[in-house]
Amino acid sequence: MRPSEATKKYFERAADQLELAESMRTHLATPRRELQVQIPVEMDDGTLRTFIGYRVQHNRARGPMKGGLRYHPEVDLDEVRSLASLMTWKTAVVNIPFGGAKGGIAIDVAKISVRELDRITRKFVDEIHEMIGPDTDIPAPDMGTDHRVMAWIMDQYDKYHGFNPGVVTGKPVEYYGIPGREEATGRGVGLLTLKLLGRLGRKIAGARIAIQGFGNVGTHTAKFLSEAECKIVAISDATGGYYRAEGIDIPKALRYALEHERVLAGFPDADRITNEQLLGLDVDVLIPAALGGVVSGGNAGGIKAPIVIEAANAPVSPEADDVLDKKGVIVLPDILANAGGVTVSYFEWVQNRQYYQWSLDRVRQELDKTLNNAFEQTWTLARDRKVSLRTAAFMLGIDRVARAATLGGIC
Ligand code: GLU
Repeated sequence: MRPSEATKKYFERAADQLELAESMRTHLATPRRELQVQIPVEMDDGTLRTFIGYRVQHNRARGPMKGGLRYHPEVDLDEVRSLASLMTWKTAVVNIPFGGAKGGIAIDVAKISVRELDRITRKFVDEIHEMIGPDTDIPAPDMGTDHRVMAWIMDQYDKYHGFNPGVVTGKPVEYYGIPGREEATGRGVGLLTLKLLGRLGRKIAGARIAIQGFGNVGTHTAKFLSEAECKIVAISDATGGYYRAEGIDIPKALRYALEHERVLAGFPDADRITNEQLLGLDVDVLIPAALGGVVSGGNAGGIKAPIVIEAANAPVSPEADDVLDKKGVIVLPDILANAGGVTVSYFEWVQNRQYYQWSLDRVRQELDKTLNNAFEQTWTLARDRKVSLRTAAFMLGIDRVARAATLGGIC
């Protein structure tokens, strides 16, 4: 199933519950604008390479469109389209005044130099600068991009449109960024995991957790949860998985990755397992925090964790979701679980427009408040309507977007 078909399935389930009119479904399921561009770049060795870049603007009924830029070899229009629509529902679930968009470049960042990355990013901005802007569409980091890339985007946009720090979020703190943006997605995943454990009457101290992915989201999730006295028994990255029944020393793993080009290969004090084995571990909570589609119809039957937190975007396919639902597994969906990132992006955008520097304390406080509200609303709706947390979160998001579209007058 293609990524956009999978997202559409979740959308339809919620739309059925809302008894949404066919005309509104078609409107909300259709992206507003899709752009594919060619990015020809001279590489360090003097050769010419042509990359393909995308930006999909899904919906702007609730505000300027918002969403990350993904640099990954598997990026294509269909994936970006699916991720753009998830952003529309995500910003609506946490009730921040944004719509949804997403972009990306099909590229393997591990195989190019920093200077090449800089040139590719600036060339991409040359192609999309008329489409983005602080009041229209605001990019941010996603897989394969970081604060440096965001700084280049702001600088390149400046060459066409002048000083506009609010055109992009996730910038370095010393360059118009906000404290706490980098940790925000992982912190949000951690906060919501604790909230869900509490709501289900499960113990937090000693809860056994497996986290797939040790990038920005996975590392901050692991840090937050280990500080909350959970036991992180397994972590992984592209080099494989690492398991320790007594709990992995997370500060040590973080240091190790930092000293070894950000990978865990060779990490001592843990048994080697595969990424696939990590997914099937007998733990209290499983947190996929890397690629999409890792829990599929093929391996969902082997998931032993009673709770799955979707820290990545779309890690559980709709077939897998059905299997997990039948088994009674509680899934906290991506559009709520990983919404901490875009929430703090919103604070950064507000800060840029206020020309005022927020403190880390204030960012954390407001993030906690926003996610708590969204969790409570989703939980209550799921309970009242007897639907999964995923369907409830989609219902909340879709209903808010549909209302705004109607109030604003769609046609
Ligand atoms: N890429 C992140 C996401 O998928 C953050 C988006 C943003 O901050 O705009 O939610």
